[in-house]
Amino acid sequence: MRDEYDIVVVGAGPGGSIAARTAAEECDVLLIEKRQEVGSPVRCAEGVLKSALLEFAHPDKKWISSYIRGYRIFAPDGTMLEVSSESLGIDGELAYILERNIFDRELAKDAARVGADVMVHTRATGLVIEDGLVTGVKIKRLGENLEVRSKIVIGADGVESQVGRWAGIDTALKLKDVGSAAQYLMADVDVAEDFCDIYVGSQAPGGYAWVFPKGEKLANVGVGMLASMLKGSRPIDYLDKFVSQHFPAGQQLALMIGSCPCSDELKTTISSGLMLVGDAARHCDPISGAGITNAMEGGKIAGNVARKAVQQRDYSVRVLREYEDRRRESLFGKLQHHNYKIKELAVTLSDNDLNKLLQLLTDIRSQRMGFTSVALRLVAANPKVLLIMRNLAHLKELADVLAKGVKDSRQAHVYDD
Ligand SMILES: Cc1cc2nc3c(=O)[nH]c(=O)nc-3n(C[C@H](O)[C@H](O)[C@H](O)COP(=O)(O)OP(=O)(O)OC[C@H]3O[C@@H](n4cnc5c(N)ncnc54)[C@H](O)[C@@H]3O)c2cc1C
Repeated sequence: MRDEYDIVVVGAGPGGSIAARTAAEECDVLLIEKRQEVGSPVRCAEGVLKSALLEFAHPDKKWISSYIRGYRIFAPDGTMLEVSSESLGIDGELAYILERNIFDRELAKDAARVGADVMVHTRATGLVIEDGLVTGVKIKRLGENLEVRSKIVIGADGVESQVGRWAGIDTALKLKDVGSAAQYLMADVDVAEDFCDIYVGSQAPGGYAWVFPKGEKLANVGVGMLASMLKGSRPIDYLDKFVSQHFPAGQQLALMIGSCPCSDELKTTISSGLMLVGDAARHCDPISGAGITNAMEGGKIAGNVARKAVQQRDYSVRVLREYEDRRRESLFGKLQHHNYKIKELAVTLSDNDLNKLLQLLTDIRSQRMGFTSVALRLVAANPKVLLIMRNLAHLKELADVLAKGVKDSRQAHVYDD
């Protein structure tokens, strides 16, 4: 490790590694990770949409544990909405369940292959700031305090990010915008091997329970809820109840407790000499809490903008603003504010409302109901359900884009199994 780089990236998750890989094509890059090992321990349910992932990585069997054909959403009364490749007119899988420990390590390996220096067990402890410009990172490595100078710092230090705060960016999350989760990796569970199951309602208030299959009767079984809805209980209490109802004979191989941002966009994610990406920038989907490909998308844009800034020798907010503008115009950038509004409405729905909403959605799918009958049923169900459906109409656009992405990608990728 040298004491000066063009760009220092803090955090070797998907956002940091993609930022480092992108920037290292032209610049001297240092990627630091506080943990002993990139990718471990895993704090994730590991689900990604295929079409979103293909933008940044070629699917590789070594980091895919299962190929997912669709998902099923269960209302509290058992009503089930199924969405599958078949129903969307797509051949093959819609999504993957990853092996995140291998996946994250491969991304860091890619960054190293392109030329980035990668250091583990190396924690950022502060920023060097001169005349309002971030000019380096304070680091603790194996008990030694060091300082590395840089032109740009990319903060990709995850949900508990401190980098933004050190630069004076307000990244604070309200309790109602924090997803708090517990998950078991379970063995000996009877699950559909190619479907993800999601359970909504008071078994996980302000969130959902999930069952994501990992092959050979293994599954990630978890519960995530907004921290504001916990009211003295813990996600693990809800998870244990869910597991005892659904998988009483299942065995626990690992327990993970974690959190994710479920917030609206931040006012800003940059300052002079600094950009935040991924969970650190709160670029996570507010409804699902999914943030892997969002982080990769932000990382790629930030890496490119950092390269440009280094070429132009201008690290000011004026130049780095391009990162925010391009991110906002990207697929997930466009969705974040919209999905935040849906989340705010969805958390107010009772079990009864959710039963009606899921029933209505399944009816629409099976009977192809016209607009007027849908609208009448919605108003009768609950005006909040009407608002949610109005917002969901926008998601149709996303589904179309994703479905098209999957179709297009099938031409380009061949799997050797
Ligand atoms: C229970 C749970 C389930 C989830 N399931 C899904 C899912 O199925 N699909 C999905 O898309 N998303 C899911 N997510 C969200 C997803 O895990 C994150 O959005 C994603 O990992 C964000 O990537 P990132 O690179 O921004 O941050 P991270 O992956 O969190 O990486 C940040 C890295 O920075 C390092 N770091 C932190 N501080 C420092 C420091 N001071 N110095 C050096 N290094 C530091 C950390 O050790 C970490 O390795 C889930 C989250 C949780 C909690």
